[in-house]
Amino acid sequence: MFFSDLVAASNRIAATRSRLAKLRELAQCLRAMTPEEIEAGALWLAGETRQGKIGVGYSVVQQVRGTVAASAAQLSLHDIDVALTELQETKGSGSAARRRAVLENVLARATADEQDFLLRLIVGELRQGALAGLMVDAIAEAAGLPSQEVRRASMYAGNVGVLAHVALTEGREGLQRFRIEVLSPIAPMLAQTATDVADALTQLGGEAAFEWKVDGARVQVHKAGEVVRVYTRNLNEVTDAVPEVVAAVRSIPAQVIVLDGETIALDANARPLPFQITMRRFGRRLDIESLRKELPLHVYFFDCLQLDGETLADRTAHERFAAMDRTLPAAIRVPRIVATDEATAQAFYDDALSRGHEGVMAKSLHSIYEAGNRGAGWLKIKRVHTLDLVVLAAEWGSGRRKGWLSNLHLGARDPANGGFVMLGKTFKGLTDAMLDWQTKEFLAREVRRDNYTVYVRPEIVVEIAFNDIQASSQYEGGYALRFARVKAYRPDKTVEQSDTIDEVRRILAAQSLGN
Ligand code: AMP
Repeated sequence: MFFSDLVAASNRIAATRSRLAKLRELAQCLRAMTPEEIEAGALWLAGETRQGKIGVGYSVVQQVRGTVAASAAQLSLHDIDVALTELQETKGSGSAARRRAVLENVLARATADEQDFLLRLIVGELRQGALAGLMVDAIAEAAGLPSQEVRRASMYAGNVGVLAHVALTEGREGLQRFRIEVLSPIAPMLAQTATDVADALTQLGGEAAFEWKVDGARVQVHKAGEVVRVYTRNLNEVTDAVPEVVAAVRSIPAQVIVLDGETIALDANARPLPFQITMRRFGRRLDIESLRKELPLHVYFFDCLQLDGETLADRTAHERFAAMDRTLPAAIRVPRIVATDEATAQAFYDDALSRGHEGVMAKSLHSIYEAGNRGAGWLKIKRVHTLDLVVLAAEWGSGRRKGWLSNLHLGARDPANGGFVMLGKTFKGLTDAMLDWQTKEFLAREVRRDNYTVYVRPEIVVEIAFNDIQASSQYEGGYALRFARVKAYRPDKTVEQSDTIDEVRRILAAQSLGN
């Protein structure tokens, strides 16, 4: 396939608002690829690359943009894949100049549209969560498979390129290979929001499990015989940092088990300590033995994805909970009740808060574990509203804060177009240590600046507490947060895991209903 055909399809997809039209274009494009082209091609359509980080930054792309004369269409998908690999593998001294030469070389053989696509692909500007979701359905359509099966497989396939390749070349049978495997971590399931327990009961059909919502660090633990590994929300391995969690899982009477939970530092009275304190156990330079004495961790498991050869992730929550109750000591299971009436659920919620937890999670008893998805089967209910937003820019501070980047511009992801909707600014809640840290981090991500403001690559997630949301003409998106303040930076969350504008709309709708 010619690269120009893929770029033209991608531009048509960006130009239409119709989901169906986008889907057809994607499926048609996938069908036109040879088996060798599918993996890379499917990823590019979703704005990603096989090579991951290419090592060419914004500044280089800015310098090169518009400086190389365009040519007639001649590049194949293979040519582009080779160039991306070469760019990524060019390392060591003098590599910046060599990378630039490789880039200029491929740009010289590209049309203007291809140049534009390639440069945006390289810096990640084309990456869109919404497209990745659409791609899964397009793969189903192109391969003639039920989308439910492709969707299930997508949770374990790692990326849409691999998924597309297997679906289109091996069909249904190939998809069976994608399942949870012990010792290889999967993207955790994420939660949606309910305003209160009554709302949660309604959303979940009148019956739900309620659990403490523990404000610690997410852990996914895999045990295979003697081997125990602990992974974070972003799938980084942290086994050595959390010996208490390892010991707790070692003692479970199962040969093979995969568990999902939250680990948290508790004070001497077994009350939860703030998120930032727990995070000290995951810092860069650690003296684990002394930290362990000072800040012992407790672990609360709330899900079980595999148990002794049985894959539980595709079973109902009801079955997964029963497996946990049989296998895990009560001390490491998150406290849970099943309720059908508001009063019981409310009493559980009040009790969780009085014990210092940030709220409760309500869970459908019938839903599967939706790895990597913000599933409708999990609803979080918190006392204080918070949103995980992305820092888009920051303004220089004045007075005591002179020299620091202070006032944050906050954006919520817009899945419809892959961009961000600005919701407000805040400089409240920032400690000196945070100001110091953020100034360094923002400057390292600077895209451009004006007199007051430094604009940054949207890569940093911050948890913002606020009182309510207003419809407002102050910002383009039409919403503004009232009394926004920084609760914590969330280095454990990626931008893809941050909250979307749909979440903001949901909270606003619930507010106007008087909840
Ligand atoms: P949030 O980070 O506010 O979107 O809330 C979802 C997060 O709460 C999950 O990603 C978990 O890290 C955490 N969490 C705490 N307790 C639970 C629980 N009982 N079930 C599921 N997630 C929980």
